[in-house]
Amino acid sequence: MPTLRPSRPQDAERVIDLWRRAVDATHGFLDAGDRQAIEADVRACLPQAPLVLAVDAQDVPLAFMWIAEGHLEALFVDPDHHGRGLGRRLLKHALRGHPRLSTDVNAQNPQARAFYARMGFEETGRSPVDGQGRPYPLVHLRHAPAPRADAAGDGAGDDGRREADVRWMRHALALAERAQREFDEIPVGAVLVAADGQVLGEGWNLNIAQHDPSAHAEIVALREAGARRGNHRLSGCTLYVTLEPCAMCAMALVHARVARVVYAASDPKTGACGSVFDLLGDPRHNHRVAIDGGLLAQEAGLRLRNYFRAKRGRPLLPDGA
Ligand SMILES: [Zn+2]
Repeated sequence: MPTLRPSRPQDAERVIDLWRRAVDATHGFLDAGDRQAIEADVRACLPQAPLVLAVDAQDVPLAFMWIAEGHLEALFVDPDHHGRGLGRRLLKHALRGHPRLSTDVNAQNPQARAFYARMGFEETGRSPVDGQGRPYPLVHLRHAPAPRADAAGDGAGDDGRREADVRWMRHALALAERAQREFDEIPVGAVLVAADGQVLGEGWNLNIAQHDPSAHAEIVALREAGARRGNHRLSGCTLYVTLEPCAMCAMALVHARVARVVYAASDPKTGACGSVFDLLGDPRHNHRVAIDGGLLAQEAGLRLRNYFRAKRGRPLLPDGA
């Protein structure tokens, strides 16, 4: 049974070799010159990319995927291991953290299009050329999660819940902005909302201001909520946070019995809701926290990137970058 793990720098050559063989098996429509140019691009970016690998018992990569900002940039399976459900396994893992995952497939790749259709992706548009302007039409896809019963049971349905999610995430983004503006802290904001819509706690990163390594936005919000409720259990609550929770915060959510976490940007370095660790999905816990990742991810991610760019004296990225 292959296991999933994040990539390491020493995986680069093996991953590129896997990519090369997979592309030669499935992308016969590429012109030879373009094929070389694409390989050069891949050699330049794949070694730095935070990949998720499916590896065998000898730690040899059999398949890999790359997700950035809720978008599946790449998913390739070793052609010698096709048909064993590896692509499906990786994609299901991705969808746990990114239920609205998007991706692009070459219009001339019917197997890939059929695979994503089976996995619940819907076409959202087309481009006549690929991302580098080469003449390979793309089909843009987005995963459409199957409708599910509204957890709050208030009859609002998915649309109502989505509206509430966006509203609370905007609130969390405003808190993140305060972290940066008023405290010069990393802009991450969090708000904990009870099932009846009442705010129980909110906060932003205060590590520097409070000399407290545990003062992540999520912990600040959970502490306030516990004090307000007079209870360390926060059952039925939803946490909205602008960055995928780390391992510490993910475990605090499990301990507090929080029902659901909605996060904006994913964190390929320390994210514990599927990006690096998958603590909330681990069946060994006796409490499961539902995850919805990627809501307003671009906005939250841009704010974080610009915070770090400003720290390094680099020019800020404009909206939509
Ligand atoms: Zn954290």
